[in-house]
Amino acid sequence: MSAQILSGKEVASSVLATLKPKVKKLNPRLVVVQVGDDPGSTSYIKQKIKSSEEVGIRSECRHLPEQISEKELLEVVHALNHDQDVTGFIVQLPLPAHLKNSVSKVIRAIDPAKDVDGFHPVNLGKTFVGPEFEDLPPATPAGIILMLEYYNIPVEGKHVVVVGHSNIVGKPLALMFLNRNATVTVCHKYTKDLASFTRQADILCTAVGKAGLITKEMVKPGAVVIDIGTSRTENGLKGDVDFASVKEIASAITPVPGGVGPMTVASLIRNCVRASEMQNQTPR
Ligand code: NAP
Repeated sequence: MSAQILSGKEVASSVLATLKPKVKKLNPRLVVVQVGDDPGSTSYIKQKIKSSEEVGIRSECRHLPEQISEKELLEVVHALNHDQDVTGFIVQLPLPAHLKNSVSKVIRAIDPAKDVDGFHPVNLGKTFVGPEFEDLPPATPAGIILMLEYYNIPVEGKHVVVVGHSNIVGKPLALMFLNRNATVTVCHKYTKDLASFTRQADILCTAVGKAGLITKEMVKPGAVVIDIGTSRTENGLKGDVDFASVKEIASAITPVPGGVGPMTVASLIRNCVRASEMQNQTPR
């Protein structure tokens, strides 16, 4: 058996097509703040700007010098919060090393109503409560839920195992599955005998960033495998999953690249449109 390949490109283009008429009506504006020149960030930002422009969103990258201080960066965030014409913005992560300890301060400073990455505690907290509160959900978990819906892969009653428990991927993803009546197990670096858990998964999601972490022996035959991890290796971009062997036993699998990545971008753009919609409904 060879698994169905879940194409993020296909789903993303379907999601983006549904957003076009709303964009025409709302005329949102997205700003992506980049600090320094991390090559990975540059390539992700290009993709975000390109896809935003394709649906007609006014978008720009605001490039800030690598050596910017925390205070100067927070001033940029405050200015974007107050700019009435900017409906959504993100500060691209990771920040340069000297700002490593500023990440939480920067995220807290973003107006939750313009937080289209969905990283502000207010937006993350809403994913705790239930789907009806997911106004601006974190982009990657929301993209994965959209993808499963598109392929009619049921979640209710399934055992979902999430590997990785970061605040922006693993934890909110686990909550979003729980809110959709899955039974959820969350694993992380301190989990003993990871394989004993992953082998129980009907839907296995992995968000670690360690190429080849998930091998065929760790996957239940017929499972759906969602590979969120990305590692830049000498053989190109790789996921956490040993794709070649796991696709032989899984029922469905996302490739890397071309799986979750395009869904993160589509979901970010969906959040940008939603932010604009909500700001129109509740004038600020
Ligand atoms: P992160 O903050 O570094 O989180 C990684 C998680 O993996 C942590 O919870 C960590 O546990 C856990 N972990 C580390 N080693 C492990 C191991 N050997 N076994 C099990 N768990 C382990 O990263 P993130 O932001 O969540 O991103 C995770 C991966 O997804 C990265 O590769 C990132 O590039 C990728 N990503 C992709 C997209 C996309 O659109 N495709 C979007 C976002 C992220 P501890 O906290 O205990 O160390």
